[in-house]
Amino acid sequence: MKALDELTFDNRFARLGDAFSTHVLPEPLDEPRLVVASKAAMALLDLDPAVAQTPVFAELFGGHKLWAEAEPRAMVYSGHQFGGYTPQLGDGRGLLLGEVYNEAGEHWDLHLKGAGMTPYSRMGDGRAVLRSSIREFLASEALHALGIPTSRALCVIGSSTPVWREKQERGAMVLRLAHSHIRFGHFEYFYYTKKPEQQAELAEHVLNLHYPECREQPEPYLAMFREIVERNAEMIAKWQAYGFCHGVMNTDNMSILGITFDFGPFAFLDDFDAHFICNHSDHEGRYSFSNQVPIGQWNLSALAQALTPFISVDALKEALGLYLQLYQAHYLDLMRRRLGLTTAEEDDQTLVEGLLKLMQNSGVDYTLFFRRLGDESATLAVARLRDDFVDMAGFDAWAERYKARVARDGDYTQEQRRERMHAVNPLYILRNYLAQNAIAAAEAGDYSEIRRLHEVLSKPFEEQAGMEQYAQRPPDWGKHLEISCSS
Ligand code: AMP
Ligand code: MG
Repeated sequence: MKALDELTFDNRFARLGDAFSTHVLPEPLDEPRLVVASKAAMALLDLDPAVAQTPVFAELFGGHKLWAEAEPRAMVYSGHQFGGYTPQLGDGRGLLLGEVYNEAGEHWDLHLKGAGMTPYSRMGDGRAVLRSSIREFLASEALHALGIPTSRALCVIGSSTPVWREKQERGAMVLRLAHSHIRFGHFEYFYYTKKPEQQAELAEHVLNLHYPECREQPEPYLAMFREIVERNAEMIAKWQAYGFCHGVMNTDNMSILGITFDFGPFAFLDDFDAHFICNHSDHEGRYSFSNQVPIGQWNLSALAQALTPFISVDALKEALGLYLQLYQAHYLDLMRRRLGLTTAEEDDQTLVEGLLKLMQNSGVDYTLFFRRLGDESATLAVARLRDDFVDMAGFDAWAERYKARVARDGDYTQEQRRERMHAVNPLYILRNYLAQNAIAAAEAGDYSEIRRLHEVLSKPFEEQAGMEQYAQRPPDWGKHLEISCSS
């Protein structure tokens, strides 16, 4: 276990130089205080969890202090936002403080979001509000606990610094961890600004540090792109299987590592709705729940375009062509497990689709349906769950099919079925209304609710005593919350 001053830095991205990022110091928040810290994320840096309670922790992650070895940099990138190309974006309010490596030899970027203005702030103030910082913190740690690849969050630091959004709010910072903060948009920036040398340097950097196994392949860059396609397909399959809606899948928010990154006004589905749009400024539903799948491919093709200096167009097309197949395989695998199936049959795809069609507009809670399905034998569970469906006859027909499929699947006890299903079907997810409750309390200075919610969500598959209220469907007020897109 390490103390805060024992972190070891190795700032590999900073060493790429000024064409890639700009030195900027964090702008401190007034009266920094710990809102919440993740022990699991602290463990990634070998940090003793007790250090979160020390004043220097809030000072470091509230922008007041800095390690001598840290080299805070704002990265430059660009990207396609809602389908249109924006030639220059960049870290407008976040700083890569440096890269730390742990005792296991893993490197982690320390990225401080809300750290003040940078050369890339455009019209923004460089700040992040408490509300959105809490949402990013909770989402990263909750997704990780569900087994969905994501950036992590070490802590949220609150403050008394006023920040103007629709109304006056308070500034906060979230310390984000990831093996890299390189986005699709980094490659697009150097491609569209016609800087082939820097683009090659960036590609080498990513290949060497993050895809070293691709070096062994006859065409290392192509192998790396294929791996990025595969990782994105798998990540999005998991989003779809667990009902996660990212909200702003712009290419500047897509990680080169295939992890969930740069959360927008995200949401987990309560009732199942394939057309759900969590971002209220997304008028055309470009990033609606079901569109996330084709958008994943669209984003990869934007990256492919930027990689044309290194890889032939035919090879890129072929790799892109794998996306849907890979997505489908990962998705179906997970959905089979969510249904308690251990074998694969040709027709499983239509079994899943049939269920989702019945759920659509039925007001069926997506998470609780699967959890309840595992509580009992297939026969008892479907008999109990049918009341939730509008088209009961339709559900009965599906249930017959499901029971027959379960019977063909294998011979196992209900105990085994429950255990297996509960291990993939969470009881607790980050419902918008739960986040909202925690935010309202935190804005009033009470951080106990966000800490409790974080705890509960860190073990989403385990029933936790006294936490029944976190496993409920949303109350009426919490059903269709409009989450502000400003952050
Ligand atoms: P996002 O939609 O949060 O991914 O942000 C898109 C771009 O706007 C990125 O370049 C951000 O750094 C920048 N940005 C967002 N909010 C702010 C802000 N409050 N101040 C400065 N830049 C911002
Ligand atoms: Mg972003």
